[in-house]
Amino acid sequence: MKSTREVVDYTREVVPEASPPPAIDEGIYGWMVRLTPHVDLEKQMARDAIIHRQSLEHAIAMGDKNVIRYEECPNCSCWSLFWRYEEDQAACVNRYCTDRLGRPNLWTLGQIAEHHVAAKYAARRTAT
Ligand SMILES: [Zn+2]
Repeated sequence: MKSTREVVDYTREVVPEASPPPAIDEGIYGWMVRLTPHVDLEKQMARDAIIHRQSLEHAIAMGDKNVIRYEECPNCSCWSLFWRYEEDQAACVNRYCTDRLGRPNLWTLGQIAEHHVAAKYAARRTAT
């Protein structure tokens, strides 16, 4: 499975001496997180963004495009994203959140996941 391969590749890159991945997919995220608590913050954020993006990809592949409604727009931080299957991206419907030609800003799941993780880590920093 492509998503499993990505998780294995990431983990082996940051932890070359990593134990073999679990045989079944159910344990793959736990394996990655368990082996990477020591990597620097940027790499931890990249790891968490992989997990979050893949969960969004799986939900959308199952037809649950509403998962995108629970994500902030990376530009305006509003809860204003709608999934567009034809473009395979989310569009922001905030009328002030447009590109320089006045079209809605479009976001990939990767961009949305990176924004989600960055906001989570920023909240964690201010909470301590
Ligand atoms: Zn926006």
